[in-house]
Amino acid sequence: MIQPYTEILSEILIPADVLQKRIAELGAEISADYAGEELLLICILKGGVMFLTDLVRHITVPTAFDFMAVSSYGVGARESTGQVRIEMDLRISIADRHVILVEDIVDTGHTIAAVLEMLETRKPKSLKVCSLLDKSERRETVAPIHYRGFEIPNKFVFGYGLDLDEYWRNLPFIGVVKT
Ligand code: 5GP
Repeated sequence: MIQPYTEILSEILIPADVLQKRIAELGAEISADYAGEELLLICILKGGVMFLTDLVRHITVPTAFDFMAVSSYGVGARESTGQVRIEMDLRISIADRHVILVEDIVDTGHTIAAVLEMLETRKPKSLKVCSLLDKSERRETVAPIHYRGFEIPNKFVFGYGLDLDEYWRNLPFIGVVKT
């Protein structure tokens, strides 16, 4: 049986209305930066899904999106190593296109660094990163974030795309797990 989230939630870190307001700001910023251009957003599954679908509603330039799934291996589910494997690749070419990678959270930075390295070899016109959350205290590698939603403390969070053992991605807010 899955416990009700109220039993594992210690606090709501970012309420739904605050999330939505910031996402609208990010969409406006991206729209201004890419005015006159076409954009391709790449969402890293599954955590980035909620963020992508809300973000694109605030982007006004012609925008396509696609999905990729990656996994890090060699460690437990809550840690990342730097060894990243593509589980599901893009279906479209990114060559000569303006690309933004959309992530739920940058933690150690290994995932985003590895994905950027892989995608750079496919020769996009430009490649940037948009992450809803940034847990920069935990960074172990260089991971550029061009569009950042929120800086958060070093706590394990869930909701709004981020899971707790695959559940609770559907919550409209970001919550902190009870320790
Ligand atoms: P990184 O490679 O930057 O260490 O980790 C990135 C991935 O780890 C994220 O895309 C996310 O799936 C997972 N992750 C990192 N911190 C958290 C967290 O606080 N909560 C959840 N649910 N996932 C996290």
